[in-house]
Amino acid sequence: MSVMTIFKTITRNLFSRPPTSRYPAEPAKYYDLTRGRLVFEPAECRLCRICMLRCPTQAITVDREARTWEIDHFRCITCGNCVDLCPANVLHLETAYRSPETDRPGKEHHVIPAPPPKAEAGCETAEA
Ligand code: SF4
Ligand code: SF4
Repeated sequence: MSVMTIFKTITRNLFSRPPTSRYPAEPAKYYDLTRGRLVFEPAECRLCRICMLRCPTQAITVDREARTWEIDHFRCITCGNCVDLCPANVLHLETAYRSPETDRPGKEHHVIPAPPPKAEAGCETAEA
């Protein structure tokens, strides 16, 4: 490589924008298909365990007895498998980048509310 070529390369690099962004100092670009953090809405979860059984990284743990749903965000690779398979549509991927986890091991824990007791057939009281 000649001295001239090296000089040209140095000059070009000095006066051009860096190829990488200065995230998080500058806001990141988000796209429609950006796969960000997995978000869970516990109210309608059926505790069916499909998300746990089909997660390739075993990031989700569902305990039917204790009625708990838990995710380890450090294991989640945001593949979207659980989002596609959840029959209750209570999982989705935010179109944003995941914020830093400060609570190691990055677990998010939910207790699923019990469904209201069903009224027994024939128990309706007719108001006179
Ligand atoms: S697949 Fe959906 S409904 Fe079933 S346990 Fe997971 S989050 Fe709940
Ligand atoms: S997005 Fe993928 S890796 Fe993350 S919890 Fe769902 S199935 Fe597992």
